Amino acid sequence: MRDRASWRRQLEKELSSFPPVMFEVELALFLIERVAPGCPAAGGWTFLGGYPFAGSAGRRLPADHEIMLARGRVYLGRLRRRHVWRQELDRYQRLPEADRGYDVADPSRPAVRRAVTRCAGRWDAYAAALDEPPTFELRRLPLADAGPHWFLSRQRRRLPVDIPAELVLASPAGHDLHAPLAGGGEPLTVTRDELLDTARWMDSTLMAAGLESQARWERRLGRVTIRYPGSGGAGTAEGALRVDGLLHLAGMVGAGKSTLRDVLAVWAARHGLRCTLVVSDVAEVLRLTVGFRQLGLRAAPLLGASTRERHIERMHRRLAARGTGSLLAHDDPSFDFLSTTCVVDGLRGLEAGTPLRYLEAPCTTLYQAGDDEEDADGETPRRPRRQGCPAWPVCPRQHGYREQVGAEIWVATPASLVHSEVPAHQNAERIRYLELACRRSDLIIVDEADLVQMQLDAMFAPAATLIGRSPESLLDNLQRDKIEELAREGRLQLGEQTTETWVGAMDTVATAANRLYALLVQHPEIQRWVIADYFSAWTLHQQLLHDWYPPPGNDGDPDPHAARRQEVNDILDAFRDDPLGDGTQHDPEVDTLVRLCHESLSTMGPQLRQRLQAAMLRLSGLDGADEARAAEHALRLGFTLLLAALQVRLDLAMALWPAVEAALNLESPASLLSRRPPLDYLPLVPESPMGNVLGF
Ligand code: SF4
Repeated sequence: MRDRASWRRQLEKELSSFPPVMFEVELALFLIERVAPGCPAAGGWTFLGGYPFAGSAGRRLPADHEIMLARGRVYLGRLRRRHVWRQELDRYQRLPEADRGYDVADPSRPAVRRAVTRCAGRWDAYAAALDEPPTFELRRLPLADAGPHWFLSRQRRRLPVDIPAELVLASPAGHDLHAPLAGGGEPLTVTRDELLDTARWMDSTLMAAGLESQARWERRLGRVTIRYPGSGGAGTAEGALRVDGLLHLAGMVGAGKSTLRDVLAVWAARHGLRCTLVVSDVAEVLRLTVGFRQLGLRAAPLLGASTRERHIERMHRRLAARGTGSLLAHDDPSFDFLSTTCVVDGLRGLEAGTPLRYLEAPCTTLYQAGDDEEDADGETPRRPRRQGCPAWPVCPRQHGYREQVGAEIWVATPASLVHSEVPAHQNAERIRYLELACRRSDLIIVDEADLVQMQLDAMFAPAATLIGRSPESLLDNLQRDKIEELAREGRLQLGEQTTETWVGAMDTVATAANRLYALLVQHPEIQRWVIADYFSAWTLHQQLLHDWYPPPGNDGDPDPHAARRQEVNDILDAFRDDPLGDGTQHDPEVDTLVRLCHESLSTMGPQLRQRLQAAMLRLSGLDGADEARAAEHALRLGFTLLLAALQVRLDLAMALWPAVEAALNLESPASLLSRRPPLDYLPLVPESPMGNVLGF
């Protein structure tokens, strides 16, 4: 994760009247000036989303310009959408002339650089931002000292804990983010004989450890044949395996690909190289890690922290299914990496009635007692400073993280690589494991690449069924879990503002969805109207406009409805922006729709239908004499009002999800909401083209 604001900090001090986002607009214009001089300012957004618009227009950018664009995307991601860019550009042009470095009087032409006297160092700052790699975002976490501390429970109650001096340990070792690759980044070449030697070594090591039943590597590898495409495309020369960049290995089921994977990883580890294996599930991660460690190699799994309880339960179930009934007899070495023990929990004293829940452990959220007392002026309570748990270096729960430092082999799933971050105890730099694995690994082996690709697709282009038959119904699953969780804690969680807002948003989504279904089930004509294609409130409003104000038959014919169509379009646009009236300023026509939307959420009785019909007739200009048509169009309008409410609240619920997921213990649904790609990948992985389209 990169620091996206430090490049403009000094500029903000020098020109405090300039809104920070305007420095971003200026940096974007500077970027365009460098990589695409002559490009109209209005097209600036096309450089920021990651899609190769320039390439499709036949322009090849030099490599250094591509790097500059990639750096620009780190800082300017929020300007990547056309309407945001145009809006901010317009705002920029309205700033005082003396503050602006560019003039964008006509966005269809290139921006014109101006001579500036205020904040004259801005050009150097922009050049430095694009010429130097972005630095890591930092988070400093001082470790707690001995003495009384507190942390917050899920119910926001302070839980005291006294840290003894014996648990105040030196900071644990972190990852060296700048260490060169052991292999120098050179292509790797390994002969078949070397692989067979490695397999023999694996067998002898296992036999020496009394694991004869597993010592079959030489026999298994002996059956593997590696064939390469020859220069003619069909050759079969057998020889050394050379990994230079990306190498695809394909083979039938049982051909020995997994055997080759494991022997290759061991060969790399024994040659001082570092290797990351990516497999599709956690059970395989643990099995492989244990296998490598039985060989005396340093191997560590990469597992997400929030899903550990689920993995430990699955491991117990697997062992029970193999006939080990008693939990006490479950002693698989994988449990070393699945511990949920919290040392601090044991220090809470006898007043702690129940153990802490897994996610309540205060690994990074300890506060020193008295740290939030009033200032010397006796008035302002200080904001308490977050501290890290000092027992981290010996905590059983953190064993896996500690083993990762210096391990020769990492075994990961796509989810753990993409989502998990290196703990703050180990590195002040914020970095996800995917980047760290790329920085430290001489070899990355992706097993079952098709399954891994499916997981990556699901992460970066997530999709889910909002409402359907159980169990494939995201909304119903979330509602059920939400109600259970709220009831379990006596609704104390609603004391938290974000949680309350999220719960309210989900309630509206559920109500709107039920009202919409009622309309669809009771009125087949509405069903026929909406099922022609996927739909949203916008597409349905466009259909209504088309019906109410049909465009002229031929191009060039006068359009008698143009003005009124535009007026109604503006009203519907304004309504969709704020269908539940969260803002304050609306015109009376929009307010009427907002009121009708609220009423529609509770009932669609005859009186409301009459009011809907009156509103529809005002907007459409239809003649109410055709009763059946007027009634149907009133229902259509009502349907779009509910749909707009559902969309806007669903959007809010998704935006708040990361903040409430843990607070409401809703991690388990593994839903679309919890699988949103982390935003820090945006500079590298363009947003999915469908990512912002909500269709039904
Ligand atoms: S580091 Fe370990 S002991 Fe400390 S709070 Fe976290 S789980 Fe508990």
